[in-house]
Amino acid sequence: MKDDKHLFGILFLVLVFDVWLYVSIISFYFSPDLRVYFLSVGQGDATLLVTPDGKRFLIDGGPGKRTASELGNVLPPWARRIDAILVTHPQSDHFAGFIDVLRTYRVGYVFGNGDENDTQTFGVFKKTLREQGLNPVVLHTGVTLDISWMHMLVLSPKNDAEVKNAKDKNDSGIVARVEFAGKSFLFTADVPKEILKRIPQEFLAVDILKVPHHGSKTGLDEELMGMIKPKVSVIEVGKNNYGHPKKEILNILIAHTEQLFRTDQERAMVTITPGGKIAVDAQ
Ligand SMILES: [Zn+2]
Repeated sequence: MKDDKHLFGILFLVLVFDVWLYVSIISFYFSPDLRVYFLSVGQGDATLLVTPDGKRFLIDGGPGKRTASELGNVLPPWARRIDAILVTHPQSDHFAGFIDVLRTYRVGYVFGNGDENDTQTFGVFKKTLREQGLNPVVLHTGVTLDISWMHMLVLSPKNDAEVKNAKDKNDSGIVARVEFAGKSFLFTADVPKEILKRIPQEFLAVDILKVPHHGSKTGLDEELMGMIKPKVSVIEVGKNNYGHPKKEILNILIAHTEQLFRTDQERAMVTITPGGKIAVDAQ
């Protein structure tokens, strides 16, 4: 009788665990929302987009090992796949963290602007891509990517020549607009405001802005914020010697956006429901 009780207890626990596991899997894979995680990875950019059917798209890889561990924090423990990664420009605070991501997860596609860097770290990144049989696909203005119900439009750089002739690697970073359920995001890499201002306003105006260049003075001004008019702004920044984010930029953001988040203080998650409702959670 005592053994029966034990057996019943164990079966009950197994059942509870199974139900928990099924609910976790179902809610993770079949959440109808788009989830966008602005990860806390130190001084650099790394944003994970998860579509309603569970496709994972990582825009920039951050400066180092913290990206892979942040992915571990927001993805379920059994996750081993990132469907696509995008390198906005080859500077270490945007690509170096991809090296560990590529060693931890199976990556499906790599997108970039075609630019390279002669640093040792970029060499390791390229070697890691080669070892995994991955060839970056180059994106320019006008290219669209549709991942499940998420639509992405590339707004800069214009072409190969612009990337090749850029005086500064920041100038030719990929700027992209992402849309889902009538709501929009602007991913701005580290591009200067002059580059952003040549984009037609119909594409610049968005609900959620990834603040350009970690809140540097080069990326934003009042005029540009008046064109973008975001409800939510996120500064991807960490401990740094550049004084990012600059006080002037913080003041402009505070004046022109309803909600402001910065990843040196917390990881921000933006959720868009199929009905176009925006919710932001920071932790
Ligand atoms: Zn940067």
